[in-house]
Amino acid sequence: MPTTARAKRPATRRTAKSSSRTNASQSRADRRPDGDTPSRSAKAKAPSKPRRTRTQSNDEKEAAEDGPTFADLGLSKATLATLDEIGFERPSKIQAAFLPIALSGRDCSGQARTGTGKTAAFTLPMLEKLDLDRKVIQGLILAPTRELAEQVSQEMKKLSGGRVKTVVIVGGRPMGPQVDAIKRGAQVVVGTPGRVMDLMGRGQLGLENIAFAVLDEADRMLDDGFRPDIEKILRKCPKDRQTLLLSATMPGEVEELAAKFMKNPAQVDMSEDALVATEMIEQFVLTVDPDRKFGALLHVLKQEKPKQCLVFTRTKRGAEKLYERFSRKLPNCAMMHGDLQQRKREKTLQAFREGQIRMLVATDVVGRGIDISGISHIVNFDVPEFQDDYVHRIGRTGRMSSDTNGRAITFVCRDQGDQLTKIEIRVSQVLPTYPLKDFEAARPVIRKTVQDHDATIIPVKKVTSPLFGGS
Ligand code: AMP
Repeated sequence: MPTTARAKRPATRRTAKSSSRTNASQSRADRRPDGDTPSRSAKAKAPSKPRRTRTQSNDEKEAAEDGPTFADLGLSKATLATLDEIGFERPSKIQAAFLPIALSGRDCSGQARTGTGKTAAFTLPMLEKLDLDRKVIQGLILAPTRELAEQVSQEMKKLSGGRVKTVVIVGGRPMGPQVDAIKRGAQVVVGTPGRVMDLMGRGQLGLENIAFAVLDEADRMLDDGFRPDIEKILRKCPKDRQTLLLSATMPGEVEELAAKFMKNPAQVDMSEDALVATEMIEQFVLTVDPDRKFGALLHVLKQEKPKQCLVFTRTKRGAEKLYERFSRKLPNCAMMHGDLQQRKREKTLQAFREGQIRMLVATDVVGRGIDISGISHIVNFDVPEFQDDYVHRIGRTGRMSSDTNGRAITFVCRDQGDQLTKIEIRVSQVLPTYPLKDFEAARPVIRKTVQDHDATIIPVKKVTSPLFGGS
């Protein structure tokens, strides 16, 4: 008898692959130049770093060899030299599509998720446009979370070879050092809308010299209620700026924002690319009983022996409870959710990045946007509420920066078949059952009729209790 029975699904499950794809433009409600600029001479060299490229399949290699090179895209020699130094050999699809438009100075909105190289797609055009001799804020990047803002800032430092002064303006950290960095001549602000508004309101941050504005993960910022702040911030930026918008999905609200604050934007839709990216992650589903989830996780970890694992829960309390149980068994385990102090979140993320933490239990708020090459496994301890969150969660593994593809295992309870079906439609795959050994994650289903082929069938015994009489 198989140890697990799959969650009961509605009929749509069988048509997930053939059904018309619920593409990323679906609303979440349905669910979720070659000229050197004078200041950028090729003399300025980025520090040498060991080259690291992702393991590519033959198909991917052929596709990359057919595509443009960075030199074909109109980047300056200084930038090309830095890209060479950091081991970026070929542009990713979003970069190849987005860079020529953005480098031409046109506003552009792109549909792409993290992990596809979108940060470089908007950072490189900004770097080309900045006048590094002017110590004023010329670039503004708004991002939904502190971690993402920090990550974008790090990527910008990497891509500029450390030549651009950036300041990360996010809540949960003291304002003083952020204000000092602005006064010392920061050229690019990467921040979350709330704190950016705060410093503007206090007269500590002026946006009158902004030539380049980016809205990163626009859908997420709107979901988080940042729309009024974003609108106020963009109204304070000069009208002749260039604006870029990146979003994993393009619901109506994001399109409205683009229509209001962008000038005739070109659109690059790489949502197909996003789906291809998810196909490079081995995805499984495991039917679990709620009270056996913890045991199932222990056995999955024992079986998979992940290099590093990110476990998603739906709620903060869920993350805390799971962490409490785990920390007794696993020393290199940590937990992150939105209520934790920023300093603690940063310390945890750094330790995870450095490999000191093997397993991180997190909620979607902090999980999204994390780019850590060591993450080999994603476990969705709680099935995500929205299918877009699923794509974001599993995208934390199999990153462009990692050596190997990743694995994602999603725990689904029997009454969550609908949610699983929506996820499968979103990724255009019927997810195979995870072959868990030595543990029964879900008790067998007892059925009276032979109608449900997915269920394990156990014959019903005749009740002979004297209370009920009978033979
Ligand atoms: P992102 O989607 O911007 O979060 O990028 C994911 C990871 O891929 C980051 O670590 C980037 O440094 C890396 N990356 C981006 N573009 C390239 C490229 N063309 N070649 C190699 N690595 C890249």
